[in-house]
Amino acid sequence: MEEKIFEKTPREISLSRAAQLKSRIEDYLDIRDKIPKGMSAEQQEKMKVKKEKILKLFNATEEDWKDWKWQLKNRISDVDTLTKIINLDEKEIKAVQQVQKKFRWSISPYYLSLIDDDNKFDPIKLMAIPTKLEIEKKSGKSDPLNEEFTNPAGSITRRYPDRLIINVTNECAMYCRHCQRRRNIGSDDLHQSREIIQESLDYIRGNPEIRDVLITGGDPFTLSDEMLDWLLGELHAIPTVEYIRLGTRTIVTMPQRVSDELCNILKKYHPIFINTHFNSPIEITSEAKEACEKLANIGIPLGNQAVLLNGVNNDKFVMRLLNHELLKCRVKPYYIFHAKKVVGTLHFNTSVDEGMEIMEYLRGYTSGMAIPTYIINAPGGYGKTPVLPQYILSHGKNHVKIRTWEGRVLDYPSIPSKPIEELLK
Ligand SMILES: *Cc1c(COP(=O)(O)O)cnc(C)c1O
Ligand code: SF4
Repeated sequence: MEEKIFEKTPREISLSRAAQLKSRIEDYLDIRDKIPKGMSAEQQEKMKVKKEKILKLFNATEEDWKDWKWQLKNRISDVDTLTKIINLDEKEIKAVQQVQKKFRWSISPYYLSLIDDDNKFDPIKLMAIPTKLEIEKKSGKSDPLNEEFTNPAGSITRRYPDRLIINVTNECAMYCRHCQRRRNIGSDDLHQSREIIQESLDYIRGNPEIRDVLITGGDPFTLSDEMLDWLLGELHAIPTVEYIRLGTRTIVTMPQRVSDELCNILKKYHPIFINTHFNSPIEITSEAKEACEKLANIGIPLGNQAVLLNGVNNDKFVMRLLNHELLKCRVKPYYIFHAKKVVGTLHFNTSVDEGMEIMEYLRGYTSGMAIPTYIINAPGGYGKTPVLPQYILSHGKNHVKIRTWEGRVLDYPSIPSKPIEELLK
């Protein structure tokens, strides 16, 4: 065996390895261009047609479309208007009417324009329009993480030693059918009162070990510019808060929200980080890309928190493409959440093995930059728990057995370190 290697030149060996590596992505390359994505000419054209239809129906202008307040005010939430824009059959219409008695729905005109009528199982449609599945299965919890019991003050959720969440509103640009916080969403738009937010701020001032504050909801970018300016200013002024994070899906569901005015506010309060929530390559449109670029240009690092969803992205190649498309918009894939058992969303649930398969086909096959951490939220609110395919196969006394991304099994030395003081004596 050894001798045979030496018969080949280093260049020959390199070339044959390169050919082997190339063969490892052939299956992906065959499929890649068939996966629907927001940046394809075909999808852009379909969106344009839908947009024209909506503008005509609302008697609105291009200027209106670009105005986030118009988008928010004109969210579609009645079946009549919906069916004037999207083709739904009798059964689908009936399902929306039944579900809305129990769970609210509302879709920004922009997000609605992403739906492809020609595909009955369009992922955007699945995330936006209620189906009978929401009320068919009766199980699932409204609060699987016991958020109720992790609320020490105001509208705070605290599950970790050094960081916490402030919940500022329950309003969103769209009420996602897979929402993992459905309990918070309720039936009316409700921003937290200044008193409650003051109480949350007082808690942070009184607990100086809190160095990382995450503003979330609902969607904090449904708040007015004035309110955000005030809240960020208050947090920024707390000396023990080292940086602020915002979690928003408006970049995906209403990218018009990222206005110049908003950017001028955000950039006053660095360091600011934003995590958003793209689930499908279809959601990465030129508008969404532009919003990401505006935020990146004012120095905000962007991350993505996807949720692993049946029928949307539970596919190793769709997820790989999503992560590539994100990086092209300067967004770093941060987490993939395993979907919790939330009432009304069980049809989106997958097995953990499906998530593991996705992770298996990221590592090695694509840039480390394109690999988020796959997370299970522990029941009872006990925290985010990373899950990873097994790369350490066994432990010996002075070695471990590892498995590479291609499945090569190798021994690797692992010897306990000695204190440097001892070694230098
Ligand atoms: C998710 C979450 C955070 C942030 O977690 P990171 O892993 O640091 O991104 C903080 N507090 C609560 C309550 C959370 O649910
Ligand atoms: S934007 Fe986020 S909080 Fe709002 S409905 Fe969608 S997933 Fe839930």
